[in-house]
Amino acid sequence: MVREIIVIGSGAAGITAASYARKTDPDAKITVFTEDTDIAYSPCAIPWAVEGKIAWENVVMHTPEHYSEKKNIDVLTQTKADFVDSSAKTVAAGGKTYRYDSLVIATGGKVFIPPINGVGLDGVFAVRTVQDGKRIQSYLRDVKEVAVCGAGTIGLEMASTFLDLGKEVMVIEMMDQVIPRIADKDMADRIQKYLEERGARFVLNAPVQAVIGTGKVRGVTAGDNNYPCEMVIFATGVRANTDIPKQLNFDIGQLGGVIVSPSLQPYRRGRIVPDIFVAGDVIQFESAVMPGPTMSQLGSTAVRQGAVAGANAAGGNAMYGPIASPWVSVIGEKEIAGTGLSLGLASWYGVTAVSGKAEGLTRARYYPGATEMIVKVLADAASHRLIGAQIIAGEGATGRIDWITSAIVSGMTAEDFLVRAENAYCPSTSMVKDVVISAVEDLCGKLK
Ligand SMILES: Cc1cc2nc3c(=O)[nH]c(=O)nc-3n(C[C@H](O)[C@H](O)[C@H](O)COP(=O)(O)OP(=O)(O)OC[C@H]3O[C@@H](n4cnc5c(N)ncnc54)[C@H](O)[C@@H]3O)c2cc1C
Repeated sequence: MVREIIVIGSGAAGITAASYARKTDPDAKITVFTEDTDIAYSPCAIPWAVEGKIAWENVVMHTPEHYSEKKNIDVLTQTKADFVDSSAKTVAAGGKTYRYDSLVIATGGKVFIPPINGVGLDGVFAVRTVQDGKRIQSYLRDVKEVAVCGAGTIGLEMASTFLDLGKEVMVIEMMDQVIPRIADKDMADRIQKYLEERGARFVLNAPVQAVIGTGKVRGVTAGDNNYPCEMVIFATGVRANTDIPKQLNFDIGQLGGVIVSPSLQPYRRGRIVPDIFVAGDVIQFESAVMPGPTMSQLGSTAVRQGAVAGANAAGGNAMYGPIASPWVSVIGEKEIAGTGLSLGLASWYGVTAVSGKAEGLTRARYYPGATEMIVKVLADAASHRLIGAQIIAGEGATGRIDWITSAIVSGMTAEDFLVRAENAYCPSTSMVKDVVISAVEDLCGKLK
């Protein structure tokens, strides 16, 4: 009998799940539902597409016709899955009922917009979908002053885009630093300073209290002060979209994501729910760094999880391991990357962290185009295990943060890293002793 697989969601997790289900079972009937009008795109590209550096048609990589013709997968856009009956194994979507043998739930996240006055005014936007990006791009044309609420990586990437487009930019953040939670203040301050030098204004320690205006945005109130602006972008965080998991009474964890097994199956009152797999921004998962859950909410994570969920939905036996969640963000000419725990997250886990730091260059001193590189590494003071790192550089941050991630996930101590670490070298790509190694040397000195 032909296996019937339904996937809810066509983001990074959902569309990857459908593709891996097809690889695993060439004969399965696979149907994907999405509320969105576009599929198979990376929201990560939105800041550059708004700026006009990337064409929207290149952001959306495939159409439903591509999936139907090349992979025999039916993708139904603008089709909301309203209800799942896990006993009858059916999904109600777009006024019809579909049966499944296995189901993948990849409903992603929703932008958290604070419940304040004025968020319905013209000129208020969230950033999540291609359609959001296109609306922002079109509204922006007649606007001089933009307020970005939320100084996480998405907020800062958008702020940098607006600066490049010649807008006056104000970034409002309720914490005392930019990129809170995942970056340490000393590193984050450098990114703030860089954006200030380019003309951005920052208002920190100021929760946004209201958007002001009649019909259209005229300003924002934050930290009890009013700031004039014509457009407001909310980049105030993402919450797992658990509407369907909650309807199904799945166990939801303390971080707000669905709790899943290594096979990405959800639990109901502590027992695995058969034939359902959950992946992407909607789940929380075991941290590779410390016992306890983490919310990754990254495209790279969603793709890996989608592959596992899709293969398993098609009868495979794939497993997903604990995660360190390496991330990287490009803000103008600066790359900032991180992995594992920041000092703030370490303290959330009750860990005393020790840090080491080094500054150097991304290429040999004499090689043209070298930029500054700052590497910070963290270890657990008790075990000396590497638990996190952050890098700021003009280039080359991604490969280095992935290198440190492998060391963290394999449980290396700082001292082990110094014994075993090797770096490839060419004057145009690194210093002969990489800055990462210098940072770990500094860390080992502090751990003595
Ligand atoms: C501006 C921006 C920049 C980013 N930059 C990066 C980056 O540089 N690197 C990185 O790793 N990550 C980045 N991310 C995060 C990354 O995009 C997300 O982690 C990733 O898209 C999550 O994929 P997902 O499939 O879990 O969820 P989503 O992409 O949110 O997809 C969810 C899908 O579910 C559908 N859906 C939800 N409910 C229903 C329903 N009831 N019925 C039908 N369909 C439904 C939605 O329509 C959508 O298709 C960025 C995100 C944004 C917004």
